[in-house]
Amino acid sequence: MHYHQKTIKQQIQVSGKGLHTNRQIDMILSPRPMDTGIWFLRTDAPGNSPVRARSENVSDTSLATTIGHGPESVSTIEHFMAALGALGISNLFVEINGPETPVLDGSSLPWIKLLRNVGLRTLNAPRPYLAVRRPFELTEGDKMISMAPDKELAIDFTIDFPGFIQNQGKSFTFSENGFVSDISPARTFCLLSEVEKMQRAGKALGGGLSNAVVVSGNGIVLNQEGLRFPDECVRHKILDFYGDITLAEAPIIGRFTVVKSGHSLNHKFLTTILTTPGLLELVTPVRTPGERYASLVAPAPTLRQAWAN
Ligand SMILES: [Zn+2]
Repeated sequence: MHYHQKTIKQQIQVSGKGLHTNRQIDMILSPRPMDTGIWFLRTDAPGNSPVRARSENVSDTSLATTIGHGPESVSTIEHFMAALGALGISNLFVEINGPETPVLDGSSLPWIKLLRNVGLRTLNAPRPYLAVRRPFELTEGDKMISMAPDKELAIDFTIDFPGFIQNQGKSFTFSENGFVSDISPARTFCLLSEVEKMQRAGKALGGGLSNAVVVSGNGIVLNQEGLRFPDECVRHKILDFYGDITLAEAPIIGRFTVVKSGHSLNHKFLTTILTTPGLLELVTPVRTPGERYASLVAPAPTLRQAWAN
């Protein structure tokens, strides 16, 4: 558990191809002081304003999670956000010269390595968390997300793509090292026929075997190196879900059961629980020696007061 807010020790530049545009994208990450949040600024057009990485600013969830509008928007932020969340980085300024983050290898692991390499700075400010206080469930067709109070963050995820990836389930209880070893290396995945369809529509132009698990119609993995885990796909869905809920801006403590959800329902669920009174409570975890779990002290501010700036 991250008891204090963090940022990075010094500025770094990261470059790589965008998944949909196949363009070289450069990102400059800069440290920021406490209580500032995570911001993205598109530097490829003049006069843009920075966009805060928070659920209210999500503008599209069709293929990936996008924040901001038009020339200020930044897409496919979820793998990057998951890495920041796992390492406890909540203050950062990101300058980016294109419409999407570099895809790197399609997982969060390269981001984790880059961020750990540059080093983290612990700031002299407590990290607020959101504790789930009441159960809640949201269903959309055959997709479902539910949550319940718990002493830590746990995610039970099930996927089922008939004839492609059948009935894969995984439970993950969050710890930084557990996320780094068991979830962050899991790559995004897609059906070969979908890649071909997207590329004909001018999307996923940078997508391929170097940054995704590609599965043919009969469930055969086309990547020569094979899978990183037998259940890599459901692990990646946990990664995506975790990345999406970091847009609450405070880590959530509770148990989530997720069936077949994607970015769209993840976002709808997060927006609903953040705006429905009584479901979540802003808390400050306090280290209690000898106990496995931190005790949670509830402060006075309501959900968004802590982020008034
Ligand atoms: Zn993903």
